[in-house]
Amino acid sequence: MVPAYIGLGSNLEAPLDQVKRAFDELGTLPHTRLIARSALYQSRAIGPEQPDYINAVARIETGLTPLDLLDALQALEHAHRRVRLQHWGPRTLDLDLLLYGDETIQHPRLSVPHPYLTRRAFVLYPLADIDPNLQLPDGQSLQALLHLCPFEGLVRLSGSH
Ligand code: ATP
Ligand code: CA
Ligand code: CA
Repeated sequence: MVPAYIGLGSNLEAPLDQVKRAFDELGTLPHTRLIARSALYQSRAIGPEQPDYINAVARIETGLTPLDLLDALQALEHAHRRVRLQHWGPRTLDLDLLLYGDETIQHPRLSVPHPYLTRRAFVLYPLADIDPNLQLPDGQSLQALLHLCPFEGLVRLSGSH
């Protein structure tokens, strides 16, 4: 089993419910256990004008390969009736594979660590809820990244339950 971190985001059709449901659904994927959930956050959208997002991070343990996990995440997005209309456009559910153990992956369908992880407050702060001492595969510490990334445009909503 490999520890992995998943970034969750939603800004359509009751985003809080979408994200809470997605946490539970991650625990139902084959060969996968949900280990921890961050608090829920509200963030201003990047990209085109659109509603604020609800964001969170989950830690799982999985026996799936990275590409099988990506397939499973995309199937969950699909089950939430996600429709891709516009780059960085609004969506019912976005599931990004942030980290997969200590692996660095460059594949046409999959880059791990997630390429924007290091600069996104709505990813870094929820990651710190789960493991403030986290280190990336290249040795960068989460704490150092947090110091460079202000808690801007982000609201921490109480708990995740
Ligand atoms: P961003 O990547 O900036 O967060 P996004 O989440 O809006 O943008 P999507 O439209 O959800 O992007 O995904 C586009 C493609 O990114 C997916 O089809 C997938 O193959 C690819 N991809 C590459 N690396 C990853 C990753 N680590 N997690 C999820 N998808 C990834
Ligand atoms: Ca994303
Ligand atoms: Ca995505």
